[in-house]
Amino acid sequence: MAYHHLFGPVPSRRLGISLGIDLVPLKTCSYNCVYCECGTTTHLTTERRDYVGTGDVIEELRKYLRPSPHLDYITFAGSGEPTLHAGIGEIIRFLKTEFPAYRIAVLTNGSTLSDPSVRGNLMGADLVIPTLNAVSEPAFRKINRPHRDITQKAVIDGITAFARDFPGAVWLEVFIVPGINDDDGEIGLIDAAITAIKPDKVQLNTLDRPGAVAWVEPADDRTLGRIAAMITGAPVEIVGALPSRDTVASFHEEVADFILTMVRRRPATADDIVRATGLHKNEVNKYIQFLLESKQITEKRGERGAFFLPRER
Ligand code: SF4
Repeated sequence: MAYHHLFGPVPSRRLGISLGIDLVPLKTCSYNCVYCECGTTTHLTTERRDYVGTGDVIEELRKYLRPSPHLDYITFAGSGEPTLHAGIGEIIRFLKTEFPAYRIAVLTNGSTLSDPSVRGNLMGADLVIPTLNAVSEPAFRKINRPHRDITQKAVIDGITAFARDFPGAVWLEVFIVPGINDDDGEIGLIDAAITAIKPDKVQLNTLDRPGAVAWVEPADDRTLGRIAAMITGAPVEIVGALPSRDTVASFHEEVADFILTMVRRRPATADDIVRATGLHKNEVNKYIQFLLESKQITEKRGERGAFFLPRER
């Protein structure tokens, strides 16, 4: 059986071995973040509906999980904002009823948590990771480029209400974009919001792969260290390196070799590699990240975005 809604398992920076569930078509989201690894949002929406069949997703999960594969998490993530899918609550209930041994994570931009029904849908998960990159409206709009109906105040109120009632863990992701949200003023506002939200931890993140727009640069270690020291509302972790391929059972050597052979022939974009391998973009991104970090490939900006090519030795 081919899987249309599951991807991976991928070696995830934060979640170990994670099976992905993708509930929306590429790229359906309420934000159009400048750092988005999935590219530009083509369907900017706040509408909740069954973008893919809930029954189809449940069928794929039942089939995949029946042999009890080892997984650290089953994670709702992928080609956009997973909580826009109206069936996410039903899918979480199904997993908790039929496969209770597995932990469930939801990566969300947090924009839908202002809706009490979304908060209710996520109550059965074990871990929710919402994003909060700015408190001031201009910085929020510059980084996340949200749907016009969304205000940052409503997002923060929604995340706060969710974290108050949620019995699982909340890790708040703060994505730093130098020049927009790394100044002391904005970080002070973010820290006040963190103090109100009371997440279990804050994960400071920055660009490690080309994002949707070319001008976004990664924050350097010194900046991340300064910001981490300013955050007092929760424990802070700077998102670390990818787990090594030796410790990740889902790392397929032959896929990395295939990508390497492919870019040796001709430089390729992540989308070219997706087309050639048939893998999900998130999965391709993890392999690209590994090949970049192990200095086997390098990247160059071209007309169609970032191209990957072998690193000269
Ligand atoms: S919220 Fe996530 S999926 Fe949506 S544009 Fe931002 S990074 Fe991409």
